[in-house]
Amino acid sequence: MDVMTLIDGKKVSAEIKEQVAAEVETLKQQTGQVPGLAVVLVGEDPASAVYVRNKNKTCGKMGFHSFSHTLSADTQEGELLKLIAELNANPEVNGILVQLPLPKQINEQKVLEAIDPAKDVDGFHPVNVGYLTSGADSLAPCTPAGIIEMLDHYKIEIEGRNAVILGRSNIVGKPMASLLLKRHATVTICHSRTQDLAGVARSADILVAAIGKPRFVTADMVKEGAVVIDVGINRVDGKLVGDVDFDAAAEKAAFMTPVPGGVGPMTIAMLMKNTLKAFKNAHNL
Ligand code: NDP
Repeated sequence: MDVMTLIDGKKVSAEIKEQVAAEVETLKQQTGQVPGLAVVLVGEDPASAVYVRNKNKTCGKMGFHSFSHTLSADTQEGELLKLIAELNANPEVNGILVQLPLPKQINEQKVLEAIDPAKDVDGFHPVNVGYLTSGADSLAPCTPAGIIEMLDHYKIEIEGRNAVILGRSNIVGKPMASLLLKRHATVTICHSRTQDLAGVARSADILVAAIGKPRFVTADMVKEGAVVIDVGINRVDGKLVGDVDFDAAAEKAAFMTPVPGGVGPMTIAMLMKNTLKAFKNAHNL
């Protein structure tokens, strides 16, 4: 078997961030304005707080305006909806991201639907989901959009190839399927009721694992020469591991993403890219 190529998400992410920051600088000179991203955090979940801090830091580094809103864990739905209405109306805010999960007194779907679709940089609003499934240009969810960028960066052919996605969540599996379909792959989605998942996975030229089970994908599920994309982030004995048994799969795969350092870093880069896109749309640029 030929040597496996490691897909370096950190490197691709850094390049995208550089391109986006350069475009922001050019647009700033042309228009006197920069894109703005509002991040809303409700409650004190430490992992979410870290994500939010990182997003604000990235905004600063890349020349974006950042608007940070931290609400207490007992915030009522109405208060959050009011904040979203304000952000929707603020022309300096081009992207709105509400950090999930939300406390249980708040209806997540209602909140996501309250965000102006033009500012929905997570791509979770039903209008954007609709655009994506119909193949139209849209703000696509960051994690699967980042995976397409990585495949393109490594010049991995998508058209006509068998793509199998493990997991059917609204944030990864389903939008991943839409994006791969848009690029003319033959797409299969597996989930917890799939029969012979290993057999289906073995038919994949491109295998995307997004189920949240450490080292679930074993060597027998990987076709010789496959591209294996590991979305999973699982903590095992204090260490981050993906959904793929890396060493075993590496014996067969032609391309693989590591965890950490694969899909993870792409998500934030795509968030910034989506915010820039929303800014350009808002200014007819
Ligand atoms: P969800 O929990 O929302 O979805 C998991 C999916 O996997 C479901 O469709 C479920 O099937 C399926 N599944 C679970 N167990 C099995 C099994 N034994 N066999 C077959 N299918 C199974 O997860 P997410 O999509 O939100 O996330 C998936 C993973 O990706 C997680 O580890 C998460 O942390 C990570 N993640 C990483 C991101 C990044 O930036 N790198 C971003 C987002 C997520 P069913 O629908 O039938 O229940």
